[in-house]
Amino acid sequence: MVTTIAGVGTPETDWQSWPGLHRFPPLDLSGCDRVVLLAPHPDDEILGVGGLLRRLSLRGAAVEVIAVTDGDASHPASSTVTPGRLAALRRAESASALRALGLVDATVHRLGIGDGAVAAAEPAIEAVVAHLLADVSTSTWCLSTWDGDGHPDHEAVGRVARSVSQRCGVRLLTFPIWTWHWALPADPRVPWSRARAIELDDETHAAKLAAIGCFASQIRPLSEAPEDAAVLTPAMLDRLSRRTEVVFE
Ligand SMILES: [Zn+2]
Repeated sequence: MVTTIAGVGTPETDWQSWPGLHRFPPLDLSGCDRVVLLAPHPDDEILGVGGLLRRLSLRGAAVEVIAVTDGDASHPASSTVTPGRLAALRRAESASALRALGLVDATVHRLGIGDGAVAAAEPAIEAVVAHLLADVSTSTWCLSTWDGDGHPDHEAVGRVARSVSQRCGVRLLTFPIWTWHWALPADPRVPWSRARAIELDDETHAAKLAAIGCFASQIRPLSEAPEDAAVLTPAMLDRLSRRTEVVFE
């Protein structure tokens, strides 16, 4: 399912006034000593589950991030910045964001797949992920974008994560990003019955906000030209800066 992502999306006030959002069972964080996260673009790991990563790390889990693309296509018509320069910027922003979360020991595997071309590279990505998840114990968790998230790269990465996790016997948790934009409260297209909540304490929430602030190329315009507008609008940031994160079991 690839859904059209357009307009400003569902306002955060609509989400907050839906009782269902506040009734997801809490995710049990016990039993994880290694977490491998697949991020389609630099920032998905923070926007989706930055708080969960920090909380698992504080409980002793080793954190590994598989950065599938470098996000070089976020401003395709820009005359201010080339795709190569953008990729370098975004790699640096992602590293700063992990540090802001306190994840100084996180391992990052960069696959360098073209932004927007993830589905075509699915077999290659699957081979790398399968290698990283081979011979793991039940205490390894895999995190990835949900394969119904409505963005082709997010869905392709979600499919890879599901396939490899099933094959390797690893626990998979997936997270929505664009879903909060196109879906509506109680939307039947979303598997709410599998949703689990992660509450962020004050320190973790503050660290997540600081980490989001590292993505200058996405949250601020690159120039005054329309093609250099911020990719992450205030409405999107509202939805992704909550004190509670949500994953699908
Ligand atoms: Zn993304």
